[in-house]
Amino acid sequence: KSEFETLPIRRLHESLINRIAAGEIIHRPASALKELVENCLDAGSTSIKVTVKDGGLKLLQIQDNGCGIRKADLPILAERFTTSKLSSFSDLSRISTYGFRGEALASISHVSRLSVITKTKREACAWKASYSDGTLTPVKPGLTADPKPCAGNDGTTIIIEDLFYNTPTRLSAVRSSSEEYSRILDVITKYAIHNPRVSFVCKKAGSASPDVTTPLNSEVPQAIRLLYGHAVAKELLHKTLENETSRHNKDDPVTWSAESFFTNANYQAKKMVFLLFINHRLVESPRLKRALEGVYNGILPKGASPFIYLSLDIDPKAVDVNVHPTKREVHFLNEEEIITRICDAIQSELAAQSHSRTFEYQT
Ligand code: ADP
Ligand code: MG
Repeated sequence: KSEFETLPIRRLHESLINRIAAGEIIHRPASALKELVENCLDAGSTSIKVTVKDGGLKLLQIQDNGCGIRKADLPILAERFTTSKLSSFSDLSRISTYGFRGEALASISHVSRLSVITKTKREACAWKASYSDGTLTPVKPGLTADPKPCAGNDGTTIIIEDLFYNTPTRLSAVRSSSEEYSRILDVITKYAIHNPRVSFVCKKAGSASPDVTTPLNSEVPQAIRLLYGHAVAKELLHKTLENETSRHNKDDPVTWSAESFFTNANYQAKKMVFLLFINHRLVESPRLKRALEGVYNGILPKGASPFIYLSLDIDPKAVDVNVHPTKREVHFLNEEEIITRICDAIQSELAAQSHSRTFEYQT
């Protein structure tokens, strides 16, 4: 009675497979941007300038003044698993870079029109190359695909145009360019707080006034004041934990450090702002977030939330670097113990502060 007919299984075309896989890694303009900002920082840049058109869908351009890319490396730059950051399997446990292993630029080249202008100190001029589906493609119609010499400063400019032009499902999932732009600003803001010595600029193409701009050689509290405002900055407490070792597995102890800036009980936001960096990567840890919420539940009225910036350095061998690249969530060994020690430290700092306040009132 069923009209259902069994259809033959067919192999998808390789370019389609690559496009689908790339769309799983690059979800939206802000996820491409995060990868590119991390590349700039890995390249030792002190200035990162982002230009955006249409929430990053029309144009996402990131200019840095880092080490540049050697001309000889340009042909394989956008191939999958090509990287200067990892050379053997044993490196995997040492690198603090995680998430992507030579996959970001490759993925981007499958779902956009990607161009690169780059110059190392050694090169006499800059080189421009364009990519499509992982390989070089002519910079302009009619030219060969090889990189072309051009004018440019030391450093790298990555230009992404027409993101998701060939993946309509992705494109329709990110319709609002103003929402995408605010996600982009959020990524830039958080990296700017964590990297206060680096100058960040983010603006819309054609606009004279940037939406984010930070100075060179600043420091975390100053960056928080600039980007999150005086109301947050004036209530900040600071706590560092250094050279901690976890008590478990005595044979192979895990060493870690943490630095946090967090608001006291005077600051009461509607929504928690939580910036978490583990080994300098912006990540999420719902367990850690819940634990910190628990700490503040004891001191803030119901419905009020804190601002917390937390930078955690954990021996890379204890961080699960090999998680699927789309997961921003990170796991590490001795997670529970490390979370407890951080929460205890923050709690006692908050308690000490409220004590001294009471004392002040009494005198
Ligand atoms: P990964 O960062 O995991 O190595 P990517 O695809 O993000 O993979 O980048 C591939 C390689 O391209 C990097 O290893 C690096 O050598 C080079 N690269 C990318 N962006 C930059 C940049 N802004 N400055 C210098 N080199 C870069
Ligand atoms: Mg990268």
